[in-house]
Amino acid sequence: MNDLIDKIEDILEEAKFHNEYGEDICLDNQEELAQKIYDLFVTESTHGYMCMTDYDYELGVAKGGNVVYPSVEDIKENRSCVSECGIVKVAVRAIEVTQEQDYSGLLDDEDINQI
Ligand SMILES: [Zn+2]
Repeated sequence: MNDLIDKIEDILEEAKFHNEYGEDICLDNQEELAQKIYDLFVTESTHGYMCMTDYDYELGVAKGGNVVYPSVEDIKENRSCVSECGIVKVAVRAIEVTQEQDYSGLLDDEDINQI
């Protein structure tokens, strides 16, 4: 995860920030800002646990997807591979709704009127 903080620091290094008066904002505290952005990302995300092999090689490419487990205990109980593969804690955050919810096929009109 320090890699993510390094990347945030790089972005801050290259970025030109100006305050409301058009003055450059001092980036002397770049490390502190990077930590704050990282903390915001982490706190605004849902956390889970994945097989580290899935995370390193399968995430985003495996047909059928990958499972994110709610706890270390749960992944150990349901994935026997993790004793070899390892476990990684992940942060999941929605970035865009690509299809809106539509429960109309599951509910009758009376149920929909109560929503
Ligand atoms: Zn595995």
